[in-house]
Amino acid sequence: MAFKTFQINIYGVVQGVGFRPFIFNLACENKLHGEVCNTTSGLTIRINAESINEIHDFIEQIKNKKPDPTVIEKIKVKQIKDLPFDDFKIIKSRLTSEKFQLVSPDLATCSKCIADIKKVDNKRRFNYAFTNCTNCGPRFTIIKKLPYDRKNTTMSDFKMCSDCSKEYADPVNRRFHAQPNACKQCGPHLILVNKEGKTIDDKNPIISAAQKILKGKIIGIKSLGGFQIACDATSDKAVLSLRKKKKRPFKPFAIMMKNTYRIMQYFYLSKAEKKILSSAKAPIVLLKKKENCESNNNLYKLHENKLSDIADMKEIPLKVAISKYVSFDNKYEGIMLPYTPLHHLLFKEINRPLVMTSGNIAEEPIVFKNETALNKLNNICDYFLLHDREIYSRFDDSVVKVFNGKEMLVRRARGYAPFPLKIKPNIKNKSVLATGSEEKNTFCIIKKNYAIISQHIGDMDNADSMDFFESTLSNYKTLFGIENLNLAVYDKHPAFRLKNLVLRYPVSGSELVVQHHKAHIASVIAENEITEKVIGFAWDGTGYGDDGKIWGSEIFVVDEKLYFDRVGHLMEKILPGGEITINKPYRMAVSYIYYFWTRLMANYDLQKDIKLTNKSTPHSPNDFIKYIRSNFHNLHKVIGNKEILSIIFQIKTKFNSVETTSMGRLFDALSSILNLTHSSSFEGEAAINLEMAAQEKIADYYPFKYVDPDNNRLTGNKQSAARKMSIFIIDDIDLFSKILKDIFIGIKTNTISAKFHNTLSEIILDISKRIREKYSINNVVLSGGVFQNNYLIEKTFNLLKKNGFNVYTNYKVPVNDGGISLGQAFIGIKNAINLKE
Ligand code: ZN
Ligand code: ZN
Ligand code: FE
Repeated sequence: MAFKTFQINIYGVVQGVGFRPFIFNLACENKLHGEVCNTTSGLTIRINAESINEIHDFIEQIKNKKPDPTVIEKIKVKQIKDLPFDDFKIIKSRLTSEKFQLVSPDLATCSKCIADIKKVDNKRRFNYAFTNCTNCGPRFTIIKKLPYDRKNTTMSDFKMCSDCSKEYADPVNRRFHAQPNACKQCGPHLILVNKEGKTIDDKNPIISAAQKILKGKIIGIKSLGGFQIACDATSDKAVLSLRKKKKRPFKPFAIMMKNTYRIMQYFYLSKAEKKILSSAKAPIVLLKKKENCESNNNLYKLHENKLSDIADMKEIPLKVAISKYVSFDNKYEGIMLPYTPLHHLLFKEINRPLVMTSGNIAEEPIVFKNETALNKLNNICDYFLLHDREIYSRFDDSVVKVFNGKEMLVRRARGYAPFPLKIKPNIKNKSVLATGSEEKNTFCIIKKNYAIISQHIGDMDNADSMDFFESTLSNYKTLFGIENLNLAVYDKHPAFRLKNLVLRYPVSGSELVVQHHKAHIASVIAENEITEKVIGFAWDGTGYGDDGKIWGSEIFVVDEKLYFDRVGHLMEKILPGGEITINKPYRMAVSYIYYFWTRLMANYDLQKDIKLTNKSTPHSPNDFIKYIRSNFHNLHKVIGNKEILSIIFQIKTKFNSVETTSMGRLFDALSSILNLTHSSSFEGEAAINLEMAAQEKIADYYPFKYVDPDNNRLTGNKQSAARKMSIFIIDDIDLFSKILKDIFIGIKTNTISAKFHNTLSEIILDISKRIREKYSINNVVLSGGVFQNNYLIEKTFNLLKKNGFNVYTNYKVPVNDGGISLGQAFIGIKNAINLKE
């Protein structure tokens, strides 16, 4: 038999995922001889075979059987000169000229490791909280530099014992080259301390922590990518105390639950959701509550599941209600499963849902060091479960939801970042940095045809976030071999803080400024690889516009070269007092009423319509106050006359104010008018409450119109200088007046909210149809924070699809500002001249 030698190069996430032992075993099964090794660009197999067909068969097997976390991007095969192999070996890593290697994100504990920590006779790992193998465990949170070897991670502080070393060196062992490999003898350890840092228990710290939680205490836990704060989710008292101490009155908390059976007692769980929850990424998944989620009355019905599926029968039937203070009236709840051995061990002791929220203060980044936790979180936590494995990079828990059967990222961090997205074109050895947005910040580096998006960094209004940004950027530069930036992309806002920060690094190339809403649309175009013209709806709260005003309801026509024409938006209104109004929906409500009222006063027909009969109603500011007082009792309770007068003054004179077309502010105004939210304690609260109020299965909507082009008030049907495009200015004051009419005749809030949402969907459809008619564009892109609204995006998607449109939105990056950096970078590589060869 004549053998030929073939070389197979595999690219993608193939390191730190148990790929070499997998290849070793597969080759042995197939009785193939050769060798496998890691390189700086991927993995190389050299192998003897009779024919290329045998190799293709082997590659098929690799693709079908590969370990779960592996991602194969590309496989190259070539015949090389014959090599005499007489067995199959794993050989030492090699340097190749190419130095760009994808690193696996952190992976949730695998089933074999869970079995290890549960087995009483497993002397080295029974109850050991730092058990891991090549299929699971910390990765990106502990890597300091590449290649991914133990000495380059924070595990270098721990010297492997002889047993661990043996496992590490044995090619057929599950822990072969598992860099964080450890056992009780040689690895990290846990202790429970009180808030002064005094050791409470170093023998059975998890059992003690569990007992404290059951007594209603709040525990800070050093987890994988940072601290988490845990308490009993079924205890009103514990949850309310956590809310008070964390100064977080209403924002929902995430919950960790023992297993999917437990989850199904409280929440609806689709196949897709279950798969994502139980994956190695183990994110928080937003699930719909069952009707009895927050009550004890309906005990779990066992027949809902096959009995044989249930691992631990004894404990399943128990169901204790989740405290309603965990997420109030939200129809959804963020749920995750245990993803480290520590979590699994904790749930061995506690058989109930736990609040598991980020260990931070307000919108600051997650705390990741023992000392900082004891300093910063000691007003919140009663005890801390600490360990001595250093976290090098901090990662929040990721948040996802399932839409259209597909995973949709809400917050992209642990388990996802920095795994890159593939984009076109390939910019080869050049590199681009886009710095993202001011809120929910991420940054994006482009190298070759990869967009590497950082983990969620957060709101850039504090020093800690700036540090987080800076250290993460310098970490990524080391890990991905970025020496020099050819292009830096920033947001348009003149006071954008990140610009100064990035300028401290050498940028040898050019700079580009990208408008916020254009970046939203471009992020969808990038991740969906759209190559045709699109109609883009970028609806959100705040973004600095090309004209210096605050945009937020922008409608664009975008061509193949990413040239944007702004073809529509809401009417421009004053944002009275600027930023202060963003957290105070009642101020926006008063503004809308004022705009409506001025129109009302000028229009006798409208007055009849709204049952104000005296024709010549005077309209001084005091008359407006009277109007508010007699028609909007709830609103009048939260605002004094002085503040109303100052809003009128600001609208009239623009004093301290700026024009806005924000869609978020329209949601705010309605949420307040409907007495749902007058002040927001977290971003998006008013809009969320409005969404939650919407009654499903109502198809009705309000008639809508665009600002009349003949009325000279604003630019209707104007010829756009660039493209001769008609401009759609949505008359939201008119829409508002119709809603007021409904309120005045006593229509229910649930109906009004549904009708309002439906109207927005109908407006999107109407504008899309008009543009399609004229310009034959059939692709609609939806992006921006407003589309986090499940009710709205579902309605809009269905409506557009029914009318033959291709509809796109964000899945791989958040539809909120977490996706901005990708859009910025993408516009950057499409537009910057210096990147073209
Ligand atoms: Zn494992
Ligand atoms: Zn050991
Ligand atoms: Fe935005």
